[in-house]
Amino acid sequence: MDVVIFGGGAAGLWLLDELTRRGKSAVLLEANALGTGQTVAAQGIIHGGLKYTLQGLLTNSATSIREMPAIWRECLDGQREPNLSAVRRRSNECFLWRTDSLSSRLGMLGAKLGLRVAPQSVSDDDRPEILRGCPGTVARLPEQVISTVSLIEVLANRNRERLLKVDPARVEFDCDTPGEVTSIRLDDDITLQPRVVVFTAGAGNSALRRSVGLTGEAMQRRPLHMVMLRGGRLPMFQGHCVDGAKTRVTITSDVDSTGRTVWQVGGQIAEDGVAWDERTLLTRAREELRAVLPNIDLSSVEWSTYRVDRAEGIVPGSKRPESVQIRREGNCLTAWPTKLALVPQLVAELCLQISEADCKLQIAN
Ligand SMILES: Cc1cc2nc3c(=O)[nH]c(=O)nc-3n(C[C@H](O)[C@H](O)[C@H](O)COP(=O)(O)OP(=O)(O)OC[C@H]3O[C@@H](n4cnc5c(N)ncnc54)[C@H](O)[C@@H]3O)c2cc1C
Repeated sequence: MDVVIFGGGAAGLWLLDELTRRGKSAVLLEANALGTGQTVAAQGIIHGGLKYTLQGLLTNSATSIREMPAIWRECLDGQREPNLSAVRRRSNECFLWRTDSLSSRLGMLGAKLGLRVAPQSVSDDDRPEILRGCPGTVARLPEQVISTVSLIEVLANRNRERLLKVDPARVEFDCDTPGEVTSIRLDDDITLQPRVVVFTAGAGNSALRRSVGLTGEAMQRRPLHMVMLRGGRLPMFQGHCVDGAKTRVTITSDVDSTGRTVWQVGGQIAEDGVAWDERTLLTRAREELRAVLPNIDLSSVEWSTYRVDRAEGIVPGSKRPESVQIRREGNCLTAWPTKLALVPQLVAELCLQISEADCKLQIAN
């Protein structure tokens, strides 16, 4: 076996697909339902970096993410592998708006900083109904929004015979030294002897690292308390409200099995909401939505919240990492994409490191 991957979120499944296409023998071991953790909880926006340029600077985060939308677009159009043309797209664009009318900088910013998906100003007549009452600037941003559940399904369907459900309590590693795995025993009756082991288990990476003698301290969690709205007169709408350098709310939407519109609301409100109980968050979310979308009709809407942690490689001050995070120790690679949008970059870098680790092994043997 060339590679054993632990964790079937977007990162692990995309990597499995890439390795298989490159002729490697690889399997993916999943402890729960595929994508449990972050991928199915995500809003599915294929960011192009604008969020990270709101201070007017081309940050490292913006530089590393700006090539991603074009790669995703080609995959989603079936012009590049993995062919993701069967993935359900919620929208081909997001709106971007401000609540004040002081600055019209927004439309210029992305172009000035060389982003590939720069915002284009929207005239008052072209605004969607829900943004009609907003006093500030409105722009259209060609960032795609996908259904992450559909992404998981499509990637899993391409590789069904290489996916294995495991009980983490029944997985045992034999290691020569910390991070140097010689074999993996599953349920006492299957033994795998991989040349390289990859952990793409999101928040599960910490425990996996400890199982092979590595420190679990390599990971940080940044929690969110997200808001969900369902039904009423909610329109389908995807967008970010930005004031200053902050994203006040990010709204993505989809339709449930009964035909009702569902909104997922993240952004600053979900960061602040971590300190609040559900009731307080819902009260604040109602006020915030009325403030940023004066035209919104919230009658008959059902409300709920969910908590989820972003799992990332550790960076000083628990700040958001600038890009993908990979640690290589022995024949183990631990990886966090940081953003769904960055998965193609993570997979490209992992493939490079897998080839290097493989070469080293062949020389040693
Ligand atoms: C609320 C929210 C919204 C987001 N929105 C966006 C967005 O709009 N755009 C964007 O670019 N990014 C977004 N992100 C970030 C993005 O979701 C993540 O960076 C990405 O999904 C991480 O994927 P992953 O495959 O590394 O991890 P995960 O999706 O967490 O998958 C890990 C998998 O490993 C499995 N696992 C855990 N432990 C074990 C074990 N011991 N053995 C085997 N398997 C195990 C889990 O069950 C799971 O299936 C968002 C994140 C959150 C939380």
